[in-house]
Amino acid sequence: MLYIRRGLGMSYAQYPASLGCVLQLRVMEEISKGTVAQETVAFDVLVIGAGPTGLACAIDAQNAGLSVVLVDKGCLCNSLFHYPAHMTFFTTPELLEIGNMPFSSPNQKPTRSEALEYYRKVAEHFALDVRQYHLVGHISGSDGNFSVHTTDRFGRLQVFKAKKLIVSTGYYDLPNYLGIPGENLSKVQHYYNEPHPYFGLNVLVIGGKNSAAIAALDLWRHGAKVTLVHRGDAMHRHVKYWILPDINNRVKNGEITAYFSSTVKQITEDTVTLSTPEGDRTIANDFVFALTGYHPDFDFLERMGVHLDAENDRCPQCDPTTLESNVKGIYMAGVVVAGERTNKIFIENGRFHGELIARDLTAKFQQA
Ligand SMILES: Cc1cc2nc3c(=O)[nH]c(=O)nc-3n(C[C@H](O)[C@H](O)[C@H](O)COP(=O)(O)OP(=O)(O)OC[C@H]3O[C@@H](n4cnc5c(N)ncnc54)[C@H](O)[C@@H]3O)c2cc1C
Repeated sequence: MLYIRRGLGMSYAQYPASLGCVLQLRVMEEISKGTVAQETVAFDVLVIGAGPTGLACAIDAQNAGLSVVLVDKGCLCNSLFHYPAHMTFFTTPELLEIGNMPFSSPNQKPTRSEALEYYRKVAEHFALDVRQYHLVGHISGSDGNFSVHTTDRFGRLQVFKAKKLIVSTGYYDLPNYLGIPGENLSKVQHYYNEPHPYFGLNVLVIGGKNSAAIAALDLWRHGAKVTLVHRGDAMHRHVKYWILPDINNRVKNGEITAYFSSTVKQITEDTVTLSTPEGDRTIANDFVFALTGYHPDFDFLERMGVHLDAENDRCPQCDPTTLESNVKGIYMAGVVVAGERTNKIFIENGRFHGELIARDLTAKFQQA
């Protein structure tokens, strides 16, 4: 297998998910030179994204007798790996199970590390062929003969051949940006990991849902001076019933300062300016966590020809009974199916998408 040595001049962590257009040009250039690594095997099915849904889809397709490969831009369950280090799922373990493999945990709700252990063991058990650290940038070909063009951490291109594709790329890679001055400062983060680095510092948490509530509480419990700002007039109604009283009581006691019906106008190195019902407030600030949600890579879906329904939260057009999209041979799975309504599909329900797809794949391969 021959790899291209020329990189893109950026580290893997810096790859924007929408690098696809650049890659597409490079892939075409390099293919014409004959220097792209090609898998010699043509798979029946290639799954893009090795999250819980992608794994479930691969297991179901494999159990149906099809040859399957999974390709992920990061590690196995890359999104879960990047969740807060000490997080606990909202869901009980049996509702996170895939492939009928029991998920046992001593806890009522499993932790992130237990989930990572579980999904890794499941991948091992089913001997899934997972190609990690392969960013899919470009897809060419058509039903029965797709070429999936990937780039690895060193900018080397590779092409995988597959008859059918399943897209389960989730939503966690692209934050919903606020579009305010100062958002690009290095102190502003869209992902919360752990509290230790923020001891004694002024931290602003933006958002009013579970992630914001959990981060604010965790930071406060570990010695940060926390201010929370949310555009709604109270914490969001979707905050879990066991988290809501905790955050509300911290706010009531003045342990966490909260500004509701408020937004952030500007972020500078040492301050943030909030627009509140009482007028603008500029307060001292060291770090900002903008936990305002994430969205699927819509450009990626559109580049492969999938239509997004503008009237319906940009849900990709697909047959609800099979999850095959408007592009023949390309299936949607997991949270991407819900478009912008990312809270409608999660592990609990997305894990069943593989069954629908495998049933349709079985029928189609039998017809062929
Ligand atoms: C903090 C937090 C807590 C949560 N708790 C729960 C819970 O308790 N219960 C529950 O059911 N849900 C929960 N969710 C939601 C749930 O985790 C997601 O809905 C779920 O991960 C979606 O699964 P997925 O397989 O569709 O996508 P993901 O798990 O996001 O997997 C997508 C994969 O695709 C890969 N990928 C993306 N683009 C490309 C590309 N171009 N090329 C190659 N690979 C690519 C990513 O690296 C990733 O590994 C939680 C979410 C968060 C953020």
